[in-house]
Amino acid sequence: MDEYDVIIIGSGPAGLTAGIYAGRQGLNVLILEKGLAGGAGLTVPNMENYPGFELVSGKQLVEYTKKQTLKYAQINELEEVTSVDIKGESEIIVTSQKNEYKAKKLIICTGSTHRKLGAKGEEEYLGKGVFYCAVCDGPLFLGKRILVVGGGNTAAQGALFLNNIGSYVAVIHRREELRAEKYLKEKLDEQDIPIIWNTVVDEIKGEMFVNGVVLHHLKEDIKKEYDIDGIYIAIGEIPTNDIAKSLGVEIDRAGYIVTDKDQRTDIEGIYAAGDIVGGVNQWVVACGEGAVAALSAYDDLQK
Ligand code: NAP
Repeated sequence: MDEYDVIIIGSGPAGLTAGIYAGRQGLNVLILEKGLAGGAGLTVPNMENYPGFELVSGKQLVEYTKKQTLKYAQINELEEVTSVDIKGESEIIVTSQKNEYKAKKLIICTGSTHRKLGAKGEEEYLGKGVFYCAVCDGPLFLGKRILVVGGGNTAAQGALFLNNIGSYVAVIHRREELRAEKYLKEKLDEQDIPIIWNTVVDEIKGEMFVNGVVLHHLKEDIKKEYDIDGIYIAIGEIPTNDIAKSLGVEIDRAGYIVTDKDQRTDIEGIYAAGDIVGGVNQWVVACGEGAVAALSAYDDLQK
């Protein structure tokens, strides 16, 4: 059985950065990725807020980071982890579809997925007007008409952000009451952002880019088409927590792994970083947490 100091599950920004930091400490590191290196990061169309790059696509940034990570860590793509067993202190057995490995420390960077509407056109227009990250993609829609879908904090904050940077924003929510916190509801009100209640998206339309949407007003049971330039979907995240759950790592009510400020979980030798720990789901934050998790694993290995 191949043995590693650290195994990292997931190769998004957090996992790749953890790989760089752990490898540079002289540790023997394996990153296991069920898809391609970069994970969900590959689908981020454009970012204007990653330090050092005025404009960079997720794909480009993954390419640079993967190349750098490979200097310090082994990355096995298309290798899904099926189970993890803790045998004893610094003895963790990680089983994938292809192999079995032994690790002293484990960093979970399995991320989360954006909850999808499941509406017609949603997949087809991803990156062409459909977006799931207001901070990353919103600035591409200055002066344009954006429909925000969702009634939680993320949707409310996104609507305020988009409005503040100069987009024309309306929110639709499937119920009559927002889930968002009071102060956000008040801000939406103060800024006169229209909210269309009891309404869901039936279809996203367009040619090359999104140019319209069919909304279903549930109370009146009417479907109506509106002209829009973009649609920001903020209906929640789904943390990929199967492995954490199977290990019995503490997770919060929303399904995110609970860590301390050093990215340690409540189980010795298990760390977590990136979107799987919730909080501010941003590329730069995931990198920071990945670095901290790797340094904590290194520190613990020295004890
Ligand atoms: P959320 O609180 O789960 O809200 C998701 C919203 O989307 C809800 O309003 C929900 O409607 C709606 N929704 C879900 N599925 C839908 C569907 N299929 N079609 C239409 N609408 C749908 O998610 P979130 O806003 O991303 O927040 C996630 C967590 O992060 C929350 O705990 C939140 O408090 C936290 N957060 C905190 C802050 C902060 O500044 N404190 C900022 C962002 C996020 P219903 O209301 O009808 O269920």
